[in-house]
Amino acid sequence: MSDKPIYVTRPALPPLQDLLPQLESIWQSAQVTNGGDQIRAFEAGLGEFLGVAHITPCCNGTIALMCALRACRLPPGAEVITTPYSFVATTSAILWAGLTPVFADTSPDDFNLDPASIAAAISPRTAAIMPVHCYGRPCDIDAIDDIARRHDLKVIYDAAHAFGADRLSGGLLEGGDFSVISFHGTKVFNTFEGGCVIAGSAEDKLSVDRLINFGFVNETTIEGVGINGKMSEFNAALGRAQLPLIRRQIERCRELHHQYHKKLAGIAGLTLPSDAGYHSNYSYYPLRVNDTFPGGRDGLYDALREQNIFTRRYFYPLIPEFPDYAAHRRDAALPNATRLSREVLCLPIYADLSDDDLARVCRAIQSAAGTV
Ligand SMILES: *Cc1c(COP(=O)(O)O)cnc(C)c1O
Repeated sequence: MSDKPIYVTRPALPPLQDLLPQLESIWQSAQVTNGGDQIRAFEAGLGEFLGVAHITPCCNGTIALMCALRACRLPPGAEVITTPYSFVATTSAILWAGLTPVFADTSPDDFNLDPASIAAAISPRTAAIMPVHCYGRPCDIDAIDDIARRHDLKVIYDAAHAFGADRLSGGLLEGGDFSVISFHGTKVFNTFEGGCVIAGSAEDKLSVDRLINFGFVNETTIEGVGINGKMSEFNAALGRAQLPLIRRQIERCRELHHQYHKKLAGIAGLTLPSDAGYHSNYSYYPLRVNDTFPGGRDGLYDALREQNIFTRRYFYPLIPEFPDYAAHRRDAALPNATRLSREVLCLPIYADLSDDDLARVCRAIQSAAGTV
C-alpha cells in the first residue's frame, strides 16, 4: 500500500458554519450578484486588509488582468513587455486584451523580470509593462516604475501570488497603475474562483468597475467595450469568511518554510528559497535543483511522484515555449528564465500540511539525493 498523496497545495476552507449566516442573508435578499451587500462588505474588508484605497473584486484573476489592461486604453496591438516565467494567464490576458506580448528576461539572481532586460525590450510600439511578483516576491518596483515614467508606459503588476506579501518598506500593491491578485483555489487566499484589481486612483477604479459590468455607466449608457467580470455574492461571502483566517494560515506556512529549510540544508545540488529582504506570504517553496543533483530536477520530480508526492514544475515550459505562444517570441534569448524553468521544483506548502507530511517529503528528497 502506498502512502496517501501529498499535493503541492490544498485550498484553505473556513468552517462551514462561519459561512451560513452570510448565505442566509443572500437567500433572504435574493440578490445573488450585481453589487449586493456581500460584495460591498468584501470590497471594504479586502481594501482594509490589504491597505489599499481602490479595489474591485472580480470573478477571477485572468479577467481582472484583462480589465486592468483595457482600463489603460492602449492602442490596439501595442506592445506589453512581460515575463516568460509565469503562469500562462499573464500572457493570455495580454493577447485577449488585443495587445502584443514581448518577453524580457528574468534577473540572474531572482525569479522576477530584470529591469535592465525590460529597458532593452522597449520599442516605439511599447505601451505598457506587465511584471509578475513571482511566488509573491516583490519585483523591483522602484526601478520598473522609473523606467515606465521615463518612457511614458503603463505598469500593470500581475500580483496573482502576492496576497499578504510586501516589501519591507511596504507599498507593494501601490506600485504602477494597477495590481491584480488571484483568489483561485490554488492561491494563498481563495474564494474558490476570484480575484481583484487594485487601482492607483479613484478614476481608474471606476473604469474597472464599469469594464467588469459590460461597460455600463447607468441603465442606458455604456462606456467602452466591457465584459462580465463580476464576482458573485456567494464568492464574496466566502471571501469574507476567509479574511479573518488568513494571517494564521500564513503564519503556519512560515513555520513549514523554516522546517523545510532546516531539513534540506546542506544537500548538494539544491538551492533553497530565501525569505530574506521582504515579507513573504510563504505560499510557495521554489526549490532550485541543479544538474549535480542525481537525476536533476526532473529526476527528483519523478522520484517524488513515485512516493505519491506531487510537486509542480512552476513554471515549465516557459510561456513562449507553448506552441500557440511561440510566435510572440522574438529572437531575444531568455537564458535566466530558461534556466529557472529547468531547475525549479515547487514543494508542497499549505496551512493544513502536517509536520509529518513535510518530514515525509524531506525524507523522499534525502533518499533521492542519496544522503540516507
Ligand atoms: C493563477 C494566476 C493567474 C490567473 O488567475 P486566475 O484567478 O486563475 O484566473 C494569473 N497570473 C499568475 C501569475 C497566476 O499564478
